[in-house]
Amino acid sequence: MTSAVVVGGGPNGLAAAVTLAAEGVDVTVLEAADEVGGGARSSEAIVPGLLHDHCSAIHPMAVGSPFLNGLNLERRGLRWLWPEIDCAHPLDDGTAGILHRSVDDTAAGLGADGRRWRLLFGPSAERFDALSSAITGPLLRVPDHPLALARFGAPTVLPASAVARLFRTEGARALFGGVAAHTFRPLHYPMTAAIGIGIITAGHRYGWPVAAGGSQSITDALVDLLVDLGGKIETGVRVESATQLPRTDVTLFDLAPGAVADILGDLLPARVSRAYRRFRHGPGAFKVDFAVEGGVGWTNPEAHRAGTVHLGGDYAELAATERDIHAGRMPERPFVLVGQQYLADPGRAAGDIVPVWTYAHVPHGYTGDATAAIISQIERFAPGFRDRIVGQAVRSTTEMSVYNPNYVGGDIITGAKDIRQLVFGPRTTLNPYSLGIPGSYICSAATPPGPGAHGMCGFHAARSALKHLSRVG
Ligand SMILES: Cc1cc2nc3c(=O)[nH]c(=O)nc-3n(C[C@H](O)[C@H](O)[C@H](O)COP(=O)(O)OP(=O)(O)OC[C@H]3O[C@@H](n4cnc5c(N)ncnc54)[C@H](O)[C@@H]3O)c2cc1C
Repeated sequence: MTSAVVVGGGPNGLAAAVTLAAEGVDVTVLEAADEVGGGARSSEAIVPGLLHDHCSAIHPMAVGSPFLNGLNLERRGLRWLWPEIDCAHPLDDGTAGILHRSVDDTAAGLGADGRRWRLLFGPSAERFDALSSAITGPLLRVPDHPLALARFGAPTVLPASAVARLFRTEGARALFGGVAAHTFRPLHYPMTAAIGIGIITAGHRYGWPVAAGGSQSITDALVDLLVDLGGKIETGVRVESATQLPRTDVTLFDLAPGAVADILGDLLPARVSRAYRRFRHGPGAFKVDFAVEGGVGWTNPEAHRAGTVHLGGDYAELAATERDIHAGRMPERPFVLVGQQYLADPGRAAGDIVPVWTYAHVPHGYTGDATAAIISQIERFAPGFRDRIVGQAVRSTTEMSVYNPNYVGGDIITGAKDIRQLVFGPRTTLNPYSLGIPGSYICSAATPPGPGAHGMCGFHAARSALKHLSRVG
């Protein structure tokens, strides 16, 4: 029987393990933490009965993942739940840009920009299923649907600022800018429109759901399947050297490239080692979970129904704060993302006390405390918020990288998404998963298609490993 070891049990590590085990490979996952799951873990905290997502919370990419959708995970307890409104981006005048799952409903709320929003996102959302195999894998392949892909892809090469300029209303500009800012790059840089367009288009097809019972349910379902397929999991094993790795036919690393270079040392071809050591990480996230009595008292009425609320002011302010964090300056009013998962999944609340998930974009390795800045940003759009807080749990950028070494300097998307790293991953090569050592692969979110709990990086890396096994076997 062929054998494999997967180092790191995040969504991609588990996806790789499941893909290999399903083909009869004897797989062991080695995980540093006391439990697998990486960025897809949840637990009760702050107040008994209050369920918090530790990392990922909102899942437009996972719900549409061709890999996850092929596994019948609903039989293993994974259930998606949608809030009434996907995302609200409130402005100081009390209005907000509102993203609905329906393109038409979104367009209807965007007034003068409705037609443009529909033109930009409508056709690609309609063809999303056909496009998804092309955009959820390595980009350098011959696409199945070149015309649809060209239509989707053309605006993604633009800076987000150029796409934002297509809109005339502040609501539409800020709404697009807030989603584009998920790329953690200055919004005037080339290709910064790509992630925003991807998430919005996926959302118009599948919505922005949460996993019932927390993102942990994604992990639990994958673990359940893996164990059924005969896979094994060892937790509390932090791999720091190749000498710790068992002898197996294939090895996959669900790790940041720098960690792979450290572990493999001289075993890694020099060109790969150089590229992995040069791999660049982006700005950080500073996370605060709140227990809030009676929910957040948003000024904007629709924000009360939104699973995600983006707080960054108008487009110009948002662009300035993203420039600041990229340059290593902590803005006074950072971009803050707020998750109200309990709206779709009320079981996460404890009576009148609800869990509110937030993080702020901060400079890479930021050593200060962003808690007050996060509270002020929420207070700006929901006066009285401070008085409703009954408890909070903070995870700074440093704590983030201790919690999960993949999040270097608090970089929760595992690598700066500049053009080269976004398109190719850690090095410029036709197979972004290959480590240049036959049978060894990297499968983390540092590889295409990038961050999210969709498992597609793990799936593609495992497919490369299976090809290798069929060649040598
Ligand atoms: C605060 C936050 C919010 C986020 N929000 C969202 C969101 O709403 N939606 C979304 O789609 N995505 C979100 N993400 C991103 C998403 O969680 C990640 O992109 C995803 O988890 C990446 O999966 P992965 O398997 O590549 O790596 P990870 O999930 O990072 O898993 C890597 C695993 O490897 C383990 N490991 C690391 N080093 C070693 C070692 N040396 N030896 C053994 N094990 C090791 C880690 O402990 C971890 O379990 C968020 C992330 C964070 C942190």
